[in-house]
Amino acid sequence: MVAAMELDMRLLVVEDERDLLEALAQSLREAGYAVDEASDGRTGLYKAAGTEYDAIVLDLMLPGMNGWELLRELRKSRKTPVLILTARDTLPDRVKGLDAGADDYLAKPFELPELQARLRALIRRTTGQATPILEIGEVAIDTAQRTVHKGGESVPLTPREYALVELLALHRGKLVTRTMIYDHLFDDSGDTLSNLVDVHVANVRRKLGKDFITTRRGEGYQIDG
Ligand code: CA
Repeated sequence: MVAAMELDMRLLVVEDERDLLEALAQSLREAGYAVDEASDGRTGLYKAAGTEYDAIVLDLMLPGMNGWELLRELRKSRKTPVLILTARDTLPDRVKGLDAGADDYLAKPFELPELQARLRALIRRTTGQATPILEIGEVAIDTAQRTVHKGGESVPLTPREYALVELLALHRGKLVTRTMIYDHLFDDSGDTLSNLVDVHVANVRRKLGKDFITTRRGEGYQIDG
């Protein structure tokens, strides 16, 4: 039995300690994220620069290229939120990490629930969302509970339908390309049949109204706002 998972946000974890990398990736997947992994700095930079992640969990001491170098390189092209993980919980390192463009900092050893809480806060902050409720007309999306109500009535969505709605809602008023949708809803190991997005969009329209999602033909989708 595979438990249903809510794949709505895509993360990259860069960590060279194999056991920790696997534990992190596993717990984040169970929490509903699509998770890509890298175990050295150069692979991490390659993935981080090539994909629009919602956030990156970055260890500092890495083979190949350390976390600070990776971050400096990444910041030349992307503003992806970065949470630094390190055993070096000293003030100079903290300042150095933040100066290099990190958005948050967590010292090892840490508890997984704290990491997840910080990631949720980081993603909310960087998408400009102070509160977890997104309101679109009479539709209310609770990003903490991962539930959707319309006109006060609960609307059951599958995990991927929810993920799609949340992604579009976080970018309301803007085009969300099909590539972005794939990046956020499916990780490297996922199936990516091209018609799946259309199926999810059709199901969401059936549940929330046909005008809830606007098709931008040949480009992607958006929620008007
Ligand atoms: Ca390390």
